[in-house]
Amino acid sequence: MSNNPSFVLKKVEEVVYEERPIPDIKDDEVLVAVKKTGICGSDVHYLVHGRIGDFIVENPMVLGHESAGVVHKVGSKVTDLKPGDRVAMEPGATCRKCDACKRGRYELCPDIIFAATPPYDGTLARYYPIPADLCYKLPDNLTLEDGAMMEPLSVAIHSVANVAGLKPAETVVVFGAGPVGLLCMAVARALGAARVIAVDIVPSRLEFAKSYAATDTYLPPQFQEGESRIAYSRRNAKQMQTQLGLEERGLKAVDLIVDASGAEVSIQTGIYIAKHGGRYVQVGMGAPEIVIPITTLLVKEIDFKGSFRYGPGDYQLAIALVSQGRIDLKPLVTHRYSFDQAVEAFQATRAGKSPDGKPVIKAVISGPDVSPADLL
Ligand SMILES: [Zn+2]
Ligand SMILES: [Zn+2]
Repeated sequence: MSNNPSFVLKKVEEVVYEERPIPDIKDDEVLVAVKKTGICGSDVHYLVHGRIGDFIVENPMVLGHESAGVVHKVGSKVTDLKPGDRVAMEPGATCRKCDACKRGRYELCPDIIFAATPPYDGTLARYYPIPADLCYKLPDNLTLEDGAMMEPLSVAIHSVANVAGLKPAETVVVFGAGPVGLLCMAVARALGAARVIAVDIVPSRLEFAKSYAATDTYLPPQFQEGESRIAYSRRNAKQMQTQLGLEERGLKAVDLIVDASGAEVSIQTGIYIAKHGGRYVQVGMGAPEIVIPITTLLVKEIDFKGSFRYGPGDYQLAIALVSQGRIDLKPLVTHRYSFDQAVEAFQATRAGKSPDGKPVIKAVISGPDVSPADLL
């Protein structure tokens, strides 16, 4: 039966709606009627460049991976979900057998089937088949739109709570005030950070960060003529220390740097302002190769780590923090579109603003036959 309209990336800069067959499900899977899907930088990247690193779009692929929906049908071995359940959908199905899966770091599974990462189809369709254990029932006080936002929130939870192991009363600097950076700030606040300093080169983003989750903001200076990047970063770090009263050691020092920008100068500055014995987590993706002050990193014994997607417990903690009212996702959804308007949603996300000039933080596309105004 073909009643599964899907938003398909055919090739670079070419998207179409296709009628696809309704997917079959295995015994341990459920078929979810997708109701809300957030658009991510990676979706836009595939549209514009057709690839991210070694992941290359070679065949048409359904876009979208930040989704929530309503269970439509359950496989014969599924016991804890039933049709009608409202669920957040974790979009990476892992093999459960490899070394990474066995050791509890399933985000590193080499055989992960991740929605809208080539060659696998994403969730921007009427229906999506998914293992039952990757569906998280939403508490009654959360909407399906909140449910879709659990995906980027889980990215932030993974980096700040799990990879970085944030502790109460710490001072955190977050570079980049886009969706993931803002969510990292929200997680840091929710888990008791004393100071959360937002850094971005766009003043309006800093204003938003301050109203949302940051305790302090910092706008980096302009480049001086002929200045190298590393010299700039050194100067930037000094200015930042002076302006914010940050020290190299002790209670006024920066315990944790989270880079959600991927920008070389942010990463360099982060290493310069981290305290001796501090921690650094890279969650933003930018240029694949950059210069870093490695001797500074060595001398300060900075614990430098990468953070990719999410792993065990991240979705659960995301849902718990929002349900308890410790993180509010609503201010982040700035744009809402119907399924037919998916192209407009992508254009706005790509441009960073809609045609009326309003900046996009997160654009959400509703499923077919769902009104964008209905948050469900
Ligand atoms: Zn995403
Ligand atoms: Zn695996």
